[in-house]
Amino acid sequence: ATPISITTAAGRGAQAGVLIKDAEALERMARVDTIIVDKTGTLTLGKPELTNVLAFSDLTSDTVLKLAAALELGSEHPLAEAIVEGARSREITLPKADSFEAVTGKGVQGAIAGQTVALGNTAMMQLLSIDTSRIEDSLDALRMEGKTAMFVALDGALAGVVAVADPIKPTTAGAIRDLHDLGLKVIMATGDNQRTAEAVAGSLGIDDVRAGVLPEDKKALVEELHARGHRVAMAGDGVNDAPALAAADVGIAMGTGADVAVESAGITLLGGDLVGIVRARKLAKATLRNIK
Ligand code: ADP
Ligand code: MG
Repeated sequence: ATPISITTAAGRGAQAGVLIKDAEALERMARVDTIIVDKTGTLTLGKPELTNVLAFSDLTSDTVLKLAAALELGSEHPLAEAIVEGARSREITLPKADSFEAVTGKGVQGAIAGQTVALGNTAMMQLLSIDTSRIEDSLDALRMEGKTAMFVALDGALAGVVAVADPIKPTTAGAIRDLHDLGLKVIMATGDNQRTAEAVAGSLGIDDVRAGVLPEDKKALVEELHARGHRVAMAGDGVNDAPALAAADVGIAMGTGADVAVESAGITLLGGDLVGIVRARKLAKATLRNIK
């Protein structure tokens, strides 16, 4: 390809929904060797749907879903929307929670009609000293389908499980092949469970998976790669991802995500899918050939 100027690159990028902050972001994009991507909303549609509800002891699955959804009314997480929507489609009336607290990267907790209710991953249950070991194995089948399983606890005891599926964007697999062809290694970092993450990554040919990571761990991963001599781009959509976006050589925000992610980024993808990263890399390479 012929070398192009930064202005031309920025213009072509903008036409394709790839917003480049400045020349430096473009130059850095040409030099990265590794891309870290968030799973939810980046590789997947970010529109999970409720697929399974399991109830323990003498509870019904409608009761488990009612408690989970009532709590999630207070949350803005994509998982919360899936659970609330799932309850609505089953015509379950939701009580109002008396209190509500979100725990980043883990889940939510609160009180409903005098009972304490919590919902989230294994780490969330650990936080509440609730042992999940006896049912972890039975969730493997769900997780191996790429579903996210969340525990529901009532008054400090396991009450059930809700699971959601978030389909992979149709463009993701092809974009990852293109990124590989452009010489980039692709690492997935997600707060989700290891098996769920591996199921999604495996079907996409992702090079490495870091699961169960908290926001500060995503930043630590960037730093770890830097220490090993890599140049890193990080793509993400959430408030959670802002520290890692800022630490990376190039932060790539999904325009469909949180404003704070956009503010921390050198490149913003309006369409919000990985094809934009392929395009940004090609533009960056074509420009760098010109300014070197
Ligand atoms: P990601 O890295 O995929 O964006 P998060 O860091 O937001 O994920 O969350 C990690 C995990 O914590 C989720 O997979 C889920 O199990 C749990 N979790 C987080 N927020 C909620 C919530 N509002 N309701 C239920 N579970 C949650
Ligand atoms: Mg996220």
